[in-house]
Amino acid sequence: MSQVYNWQLGRQMSYPYDGKYPERQFAFVFNINRCIACQSCTMACKSTWTFSKGQEHMWWANVETKPYGGYPHAWDVKILDLLHQADPDGRRWRGASAENPQAPYGQFPGKTIFEAAEKFLEPPSARVLGYLPADEEWNSPNIYEDNPVGPKGVRNQFHLTGEQLPVHNTWFFYLARICNHCTYPACLAACPRQAIYKRPEDGIVLIDQSECRGYRKCVEACPYKKSMYRGNTRVSEKCIGCYPRVEGSDPETGGEPMETRCMCACIGQIRMQSLVKLNPDGTWAEDRQHPLYYLVHVAKVALPLYPQFGTSPNGFYIPPRWVPREYLRQMFGPGVDQAIERYSNPDRELLAVLQLFRRSNRIIFRYEIEEGPLAYEGLYRGKQVRIYNDTAIAFGENGRELFRTTVEEPLHVRPAKHQNSI
Ligand code: SF4
Ligand code: SF4
Repeated sequence: MSQVYNWQLGRQMSYPYDGKYPERQFAFVFNINRCIACQSCTMACKSTWTFSKGQEHMWWANVETKPYGGYPHAWDVKILDLLHQADPDGRRWRGASAENPQAPYGQFPGKTIFEAAEKFLEPPSARVLGYLPADEEWNSPNIYEDNPVGPKGVRNQFHLTGEQLPVHNTWFFYLARICNHCTYPACLAACPRQAIYKRPEDGIVLIDQSECRGYRKCVEACPYKKSMYRGNTRVSEKCIGCYPRVEGSDPETGGEPMETRCMCACIGQIRMQSLVKLNPDGTWAEDRQHPLYYLVHVAKVALPLYPQFGTSPNGFYIPPRWVPREYLRQMFGPGVDQAIERYSNPDRELLAVLQLFRRSNRIIFRYEIEEGPLAYEGLYRGKQVRIYNDTAIAFGENGRELFRTTVEEPLHVRPAKHQNSI
C-alpha cells in the first residue's frame, strides 16, 4: 500500500495506489436543513440515466430518511459495525485544529476501510473492508420510511399512541445522496480489472463498461454503496456526475459548465455543485471567493459524510440543527457543533452566500458581495442580530456574471389580469 495524505482525517493514510489528483475536483454541498424529500432529484436522475431494463433497482441519486432509512438497507450501520469490529478502540477523533487548513477537523487515528482491510481481512489480497448487500436490500428504497408502522409483527395496524425508540426521542431528517466522486475511491481501489478511473479534468469517477467483468468488488468496497451491479448486462454501473453537463458538452448547456440533473431539479434549493481547484497533494487550493471553498474551508458549515471511512468524499453537508449531536458527530465528524452554531447564527457573508443555492443551473466558480442597507435589527434566537440586504453576485467559469440575488427575497405582485391564474 502507498501512503497518501487525507486532509479530512488530518493524517497520512494507506491506499492501494499512489495519490493522483485532478486539476479540479467535482464537489458539492447539500444543506439538509432544507431537504423536504420531494425526490425530484431522485427522479431527475432516474429518468435520465437508469430507466432501462435491468436498472429497475438502481437509484444513483437517492434520498433516505435518517435514522431509520437507508438505500441499500442499513448500509451505514453495516459498514460502521464492520469498522468497529475491526478496530474497536481507534474510533475517536483527536482534538480540532481549527486554524490548520490541512487538518480542519483535527486528527482521526482510527483505521479506515483500507487500513482495516490490510490488517483484518483474509486473504491478504483483499484491499478494502466492505460487504456485498443482498438483492432484497437494494429492492425497496424508502420502504417504511415516513410511514407509521403498527405494532411489531402485526400487519395493517397503526399504533394508537405512537411509539418512542429506546435510544432517541422522535426526530428524523432527510439525507440526499449521490456518489461522492471520492479523492481516494474505494470502488477504484478494489477493482481487480482496473476498470474504474478518476478523470484528470474533473475528478469524476467512472467505470469503463468495456473493461468491467462484473466481479462486484466495487459494490462490495464502496462504503456509501454507490456502485451497483446490473444483472442483464453483467457489469457494474454508477453515477457519472452528469459529465456532459459538467463539461459543457451537453447541447442544453451552450458550452458552459452546467450542474448535474439532480442538482438542477432540487425544489428545496438545498444543492450547490461546482469544481474546486486542488493542490498537488490533493488538498483544496485556497480560492477565497469560490462558494464551495468558502462553505467548506472558511465558514466551515459544510462537512464530509462519514469522513472516517477514509475515501475523502467530495460531498459536504450542512448538518441539520435539530438532530442529537452524538448522531451527527458520528456521521459528519467533530466539526458538527461549530457548523451548526455558525449556520444558526450566520454572519453577513454566510447569509449572502447561502442565497446562491439554486438561482441558476450554471456552475458557479466565484462570487462577490455588494453591501446593501440594514434590513432588520433585533433579537433572533436570543441573540442580537443585524441583517443587511446584501447582493450576492455569481460568476461562471469564463468570468461572466451568471446572476445576482439579494438577501431579502424580492416581492413580485401579480398583475390584475393574471390574478387567480397559475
Ligand atoms: S462514493 Fe463509492 S462509488 Fe463513488 S467514488 Fe466513492 S467509493 Fe466510488
Ligand atoms: S430535490 Fe432537493 S429537496 Fe427534493 S428530495 Fe432532492 S435534495 Fe431534497
